Amino acid sequence: MRYKNPNMKKIRGSHILLVSCGYCKYPIAKYQKVGNSGLIKMYNERIIEGNIDFSKYHGALFCPNCKEQIATRYITKRDKKEAYRLHHGKFNKKKI
Ligand SMILES: [Zn+2]
Repeated sequence: MRYKNPNMKKIRGSHILLVSCGYCKYPIAKYQKVGNSGLIKMYNERIIEGNIDFSKYHGALFCPNCKEQIATRYITKRDKKEAYRLHHGKFNKKKI
């Protein structure tokens, strides 16, 4: 992974997922996931590191390898946090 995420907070009780591009399998980010529900969004502060520089503003996330869009930035309603909504079927995840 090329970029550490300076916004990262350690999330207690989380496990780490490797999120990769659903088109070309290129690794996108290591993410701290809480609970066993499906992965719908990634909070910026839970991203550990990635091949995208998460310290910068991105309106959407594109795979750095094949350039396909895999997520869209938004602010969560409940807690007003920066997050990326993952597009269904456009990413893979794996517990590491
Ligand atoms: Zn890709």
